Amino acid sequence: MTRGVVILGSTGSIGTQALDVVSRHRDEYHVVALAAGRNADLLRRQAAEFDVPADMARICLDAPDVLAELAALPDADVVLNAVVGFAGLPATLAAPNKESLIAAGPVVAKARAAGGGEIIPVDSEHSAVWQCLRAGRPSEVARIVLTASGGPFRGRSRAQLDHVTIADALAHPTWNMGAKITIDSSTLMNKGLEVIEAHELFDVGFDRIDVVVHPQSVVHSMVEFCDGATIAQLSMPDMRLPIALALGAPNRIAEPFGAIDWSTLGRLDFEVPDLETFPCLALAYAAGRLGGTAPAILSAANEVAVDAFLGGRIAWTEIAAVVAEVLNDGAGNADEIADVLEADRRARARATAVAESRGTA
Ligand code: MG
Repeated sequence: MTRGVVILGSTGSIGTQALDVVSRHRDEYHVVALAAGRNADLLRRQAAEFDVPADMARICLDAPDVLAELAALPDADVVLNAVVGFAGLPATLAAPNKESLIAAGPVVAKARAAGGGEIIPVDSEHSAVWQCLRAGRPSEVARIVLTASGGPFRGRSRAQLDHVTIADALAHPTWNMGAKITIDSSTLMNKGLEVIEAHELFDVGFDRIDVVVHPQSVVHSMVEFCDGATIAQLSMPDMRLPIALALGAPNRIAEPFGAIDWSTLGRLDFEVPDLETFPCLALAYAAGRLGGTAPAILSAANEVAVDAFLGGRIAWTEIAAVVAEVLNDGAGNADEIADVLEADRRARARATAVAESRGTA
């Protein structure tokens, strides 16, 4: 029996790499269903290549319920939710994507407590933590240390970043990812969101989650245990490793992705993040500690701000300013999905207005 895989967001960066893993291991996996936001041509080609019936390869840009429907298919052994952004929420309770887990953490936590499947993180840092946690008991965990590449602007001062271009921000030194996450990586918001994600996934307090900048992106994250031992997961940057682990968990796939050549690796560097130049990281910690709808507001305002930057409407430095201003309005309780959706809607409207007032046009 091969494992049935559903891939939500199959035409994106993570989705296409997941299909690459499946194509190399057809004796272990088969594709049950695919969903994509808008790239119908690629979706059709993927469906043909992986023998997915036409009604199981769906465009869901304007029909987010499709995600929930496909995620709940009975022959889906694994659901990979690689949808970018908050659109993943309707499928969240079956298989949360990154933004939904962050924005709707309290609601997802309730659903997880009520039973259901296990969440295996695909994000490289959280996959690393998940792997490192195997080295000890939950009660023995002292802290989680997430590594950050630092993005293309590592080492620059705040003043030097006033006039960076979209192309500058998209030039990530080590990872090849989608545009939104690459910009988040340049502001360190990606790391901030990952701090919240780690808190939700592993139930560790914000005071026990640290971020360290590690430009080579070889150490993907670490767990420090109560006896002082730090366990790290290392591999060359290749998302197919965490993707393959998530598809086959708890088993490892018998194909090395990103194995290290120690004769050429050279050095590994670590430094403390510069919170003055990259205020998004501090904003994310603040939103995480505030809890309730604050992470949803953070994530929504950030999506709008990044969109405004990529559209040439605001400067790179204004991304953090927009998020800070929207967060300043305060947050509420996040008991139900409706609370999160309402906070998301309001934060987007507010961020759009703030971005307009701070715009360059
Ligand atoms: Mg990551």
